[in-house]
Amino acid sequence: MRAAVETRPAYDVRKVREDFPILSTRVHGKPLVYLDNAATSQKPRAVIDAMRSYYETLNSNIHRGVHHLSELATRAFEAARLKAARFLNAADPKEIVFVRGATEAINLVAQSFGAGWKAGDEVLVTHLEHHSNIVPWQILRDTRGIVLRVAPIDDRGEVVLEEFERLLSPRTKLVSVAHVSNALGTVNPVQRMIKLARGAGAAVLLDGAQAVPHLPVDVRALDCDFYAFSGHKLYGPTGIGVLYGKAALLEKMPPWQGGGDMILSVSFEKTVYNRIPHKFEAGTPHIEGVIGLAPALDYVTGLGLAAIAAHEHDLLVYATAALSEIQGLRIYGTARDKAGVLSFTLEGVHPHDIGTILDQEGLAIRTGHHCAQPVMERYGIAATARASFGLYNTRPEVDALVAGLRRVREVFA
Ligand code: PLP
Repeated sequence: MRAAVETRPAYDVRKVREDFPILSTRVHGKPLVYLDNAATSQKPRAVIDAMRSYYETLNSNIHRGVHHLSELATRAFEAARLKAARFLNAADPKEIVFVRGATEAINLVAQSFGAGWKAGDEVLVTHLEHHSNIVPWQILRDTRGIVLRVAPIDDRGEVVLEEFERLLSPRTKLVSVAHVSNALGTVNPVQRMIKLARGAGAAVLLDGAQAVPHLPVDVRALDCDFYAFSGHKLYGPTGIGVLYGKAALLEKMPPWQGGGDMILSVSFEKTVYNRIPHKFEAGTPHIEGVIGLAPALDYVTGLGLAAIAAHEHDLLVYATAALSEIQGLRIYGTARDKAGVLSFTLEGVHPHDIGTILDQEGLAIRTGHHCAQPVMERYGIAATARASFGLYNTRPEVDALVAGLRRVREVFA
């Protein structure tokens, strides 16, 4: 991880909130309390303005045009790539592939990096993965006969590292793990896991969808081969995300989608593919998404990810203590290293009922399996209620959550 150099003023959450227009919304007559940040985050004005301004002043297709607007749009698009590279501390912007989100990034790696895998080759994941880091490997299992191995988690929701190590083998082609769990909040000891994977000669993909909004990430310090994230969980637009890949690997990987922009020349006899990263970006990309992602990266970098992490950690500790006082409430995910996610059940109340009653109080939380059904199965439950914190949440909002949950208790008394 990159060492944080904190020269900024103290974290002023009141001021931060002013940057997010939607936070002044009222829901059922109550102030919105938005605690569904792990599903998607709200957008600061800078992101909204950048996307609006793109359409008002720059809109045109990129890379192919010689006209003024196309050149401006291309420059803005590639400047965002450079920004994303700096954000992850990648060695070169060509290691940044723009994709739809973490899901598409993982599918790209499965289809392209996994193109040469044979029956019996192995991919190692953990029991706490999001479905998007399970199903792409199952598709390869069904079509190609690869083996999917799963490292177990303990009751706290931490990966059992001895088992993880034991499941590595000379056939392990890739270790693909969440940096942070969306269902439990567990921050995986990825540095250690990468070392173990390297020892077995396996490549490593980190699913950073839940990590980048909450922790500083340095792909070179981590020495992972691939890193995936979604813009919309990072206060940026939907439909845009990043796959970081080491240049040496991306160069060798075959394209996974064909079309415009990913080629240098095409004839019916022979097509020459474009250089990386364009080789992986077939067709007109989500230009306004990329242009909106740049100010989102600036925004979190400006606040400082170490400061954001400290703020959210304070909320997590405060909320964990307060929720633990509620009779019949059980928290799932008590890892020692944890991001701002609180998954819980309330005895005798279906999680969907919790969500519906809280909604009446203006509180937005998530209920269900959180696209992590194996996690639910691990604890013998079908669903949880989940509050997840973002950089604009406050202790009074946690108090509102606790008051809402007491109200749920009364309704089901
Ligand atoms: N990985 C994790 C850990 C997630 O939490 C999510 C979304 O919730 C994803 C991957 C998929 O992200 P997206 O739907 O933006 O592609």
